[in-house]
Amino acid sequence: MLVTDAPAISSLAHVPTWFGIGGGADRFAPVQTAEQLARAIEIDPALRVLGDGANLLVDDDGVSELVVKLEGELASWTIDPVRGIVRVGAGANLPKLINETVRQGLAGLETLGGIPASVGGALVMNAGGKFGEIEQYVVRVHALDRSGREVTLEHKDAAFAYRRSGLKGLLVTSCELQLAPDDAGAVRKRLKEVMAYKKTSQPMAEKSAGCTYKNPTLDHDIMDLFDANARAGRRVPAGLLIDRAGLKGLAVNAVSVSDVHANFFVTREGATAGDVIRLMNEVERRVLDRYGVQLEREVVVWSRHHRGSRP
Ligand SMILES: Cc1cc2nc3c(=O)[nH]c(=O)nc-3n(C[C@H](O)[C@H](O)[C@H](O)COP(=O)(O)OP(=O)(O)OC[C@H]3O[C@@H](n4cnc5c(N)ncnc54)[C@H](O)[C@@H]3O)c2cc1C
Repeated sequence: MLVTDAPAISSLAHVPTWFGIGGGADRFAPVQTAEQLARAIEIDPALRVLGDGANLLVDDDGVSELVVKLEGELASWTIDPVRGIVRVGAGANLPKLINETVRQGLAGLETLGGIPASVGGALVMNAGGKFGEIEQYVVRVHALDRSGREVTLEHKDAAFAYRRSGLKGLLVTSCELQLAPDDAGAVRKRLKEVMAYKKTSQPMAEKSAGCTYKNPTLDHDIMDLFDANARAGRRVPAGLLIDRAGLKGLAVNAVSVSDVHANFFVTREGATAGDVIRLMNEVERRVLDRYGVQLEREVVVWSRHHRGSRP
């Protein structure tokens, strides 16, 4: 790739995340094109991509790597409403894209209503839930690798699975989605139903990063969970384990386990990233003690001290 355009780098006092807490970035650059992203990779091959910050906890003393935000042509889309094909930049806002595809009478993405994300963040995490996952609509994904080379992955090569993908480590730039032409009114009605479900089951108005943990697959039966699914080999909601362990409302300073949905940790004024990490450690310890299940974090933690959880 021909690298022409250098991104403008500044520092960021606070990386904007849905938790509304945490540290900043020593170096931050909006990037508008794949060429600029390639130039940013030359500057720091270990750079981090900030999506919508909806699944992200940034440690209180921030990060040293270059943080980039995908904008401009990397956040734009074209929609072919007749064939149902959407070409979209990874920096595009998923809820806005959902509204637009629904408006144009395309079915599919309405199943992801109420999930805050950039398209790139949603692809990397294979965002989804009760009504579907983004991978169901993916035809192919375009990305740059850490040496700035263009990579195209067909759906079958992107290793999508429950809340993960084989895109980890790549810098996703765009994707093609296949949606289904449908009656716009019917699609809008389904979106409303999905949103209504989310509003009653999750603390949408509070500051959180959505589900803190992935739903674990059990390696042993748990009889006292009184849930027919709590059998070896089955996936159970992490929130159920946290709730039944009596941890709803457990708090460290201004961070607490939500009373509405036990897999959501919510922050109030004065909370720190350190408080979230201490609460995660405590919840993990208590669920392990009570049920013998080691919870796996879904929330990504950015820290200058360890790089273990960076996709
Ligand atoms: C209120 C609320 C409700 C939620 N409900 C759901 C839900 O129902 N289902 C669900 O799955 N999730 C849910 N989430 C979590 C979140 O919406 C998803 O995980 C989403 O996919 C995060 O996308 P993002 O763009 O915000 O990623 P970020 O949080 O910005 O980043 C997450 C990780 O993805 C990486 N990343 C982002 N963009 C790129 C890119 N272009 N290339 C490479 N890496 C990239 C980042 O570097 C980071 O490591 C919820 C969150 C909130 C706050």
